[in-house]
Amino acid sequence: MSTDKMESGDSPSTKKIEDKAQPRMRKVSCRNPAMPWFGMDIGGSLAKLVYFEPEDMNLEDENTEFEPEALYKIHHYLRYNTAYGSTGIRDTHLEVKNLTVFGHKGSMHFIRFPTTSMNLFLDMVKEKNLSSLADTIHATGGGAYKFENGFNEVVNMSLQKHDELGCLLRGIHFIDRMIPNECYYWKNTDAFNSEASEKVPYDFHNPYPYLVVNIGSGVSLLAVHSHSNFKRVGGSSLGGGTFLGLCCLLTGCQTFEEAIELASEGDATKVDKSVRDIYGTDYNRFGLPGSVVASSFCNMSIKEKRDAASKKDLARSTLLTITNNIGSIARMTALNEGIERIVFVGNFLRVNPISMKLLSYAMDFWSKGSLKALFLQHEGYFGAVGAFLELIGYDGDRNGNGEETSK
Ligand code: ADP
Repeated sequence: MSTDKMESGDSPSTKKIEDKAQPRMRKVSCRNPAMPWFGMDIGGSLAKLVYFEPEDMNLEDENTEFEPEALYKIHHYLRYNTAYGSTGIRDTHLEVKNLTVFGHKGSMHFIRFPTTSMNLFLDMVKEKNLSSLADTIHATGGGAYKFENGFNEVVNMSLQKHDELGCLLRGIHFIDRMIPNECYYWKNTDAFNSEASEKVPYDFHNPYPYLVVNIGSGVSLLAVHSHSNFKRVGGSSLGGGTFLGLCCLLTGCQTFEEAIELASEGDATKVDKSVRDIYGTDYNRFGLPGSVVASSFCNMSIKEKRDAASKKDLARSTLLTITNNIGSIARMTALNEGIERIVFVGNFLRVNPISMKLLSYAMDFWSKGSLKALFLQHEGYFGAVGAFLELIGYDGDRNGNGEETSK
């Protein structure tokens, strides 16, 4: 994320989500820390950064002598670029406009970079002299512990660490409350004709109880009964990191985007053994259609099948294997907890409609319609939003009028 290679940016695109967000006046009351306002989630694969851009401080006006200069510089660097160095990306389609935080009207920006680029990020923070404006960054995720010394030593800043699952939930509740159509489900998810399915907004106003399945590098499952009553009820080491790691090994691909693209063109039936491959038909007694995967990757033990399977087929099967496993764990956990709504989040779902549709189909099919799979537009950013909320001291409670209250 070095500053020497920054690309000139375009203005943030205005997506559906923002258009719909415009009419609502969104006000957040809290304490007023020094700008700039950031929240960070440093995960096993990706570091996520949420930045609040105040639009009422003349940071846009070149002729304004804005003090301190470091704030002006940081603002311009983030605002007028969509790529930072060779690995940092601003997800412009997720930008939230028209948000009022502690009397400042502005936009929330969403930036990510690989956690392996943390040293470059620290160099950028040092170069922009962030420590002249603040001595602390509010951060969550395992990296808030791992990189604590780096922040101290390289940029002379400390990390205020916050629990990652608490931040995740605070972020989910905040974003869902602030943004219309944040929550959605997939309609018509036929696993074998997934083109026909479409996204449909879901009213998540009364969310409790629900299960969160956070699919990051690994998987965490939380049963949420209220904004303050939740517990971690399960997890799996077979998550998004497993998919990407296996895909890189099996296909030689280099990036998540490449892995998903390969998978979208592959045919997993060449790799997996289905019920039909074993029975020659459906397994009717227990209602198992012939097309259901009986054994993932089983065909790869046969030389001819191995020779016939392409990289695309291998990528597809890897994606379905990981997704089906997460789906099974989610379904059994929901059953165990007596919960019917399952919210899937995490960056594994980024640019990954195949997994979202498959999870939707699987929840519906195997529960005979009693479980509902839900998704959120800001997929992997909720932890960083939660850290941002810690910075501004937002507690998320509502007063009798349904408005946000201050701490
Ligand atoms: P974590 O906090 O563990 O890093 P995330 O929610 O950020 O978790 O999700 C990480 C996962 O997201 C990766 O394991 C991978 O499956 C997927 N992913 C999506 N986009 C990318 C990307 N650009 N680079 C790496 N992994 C990505």
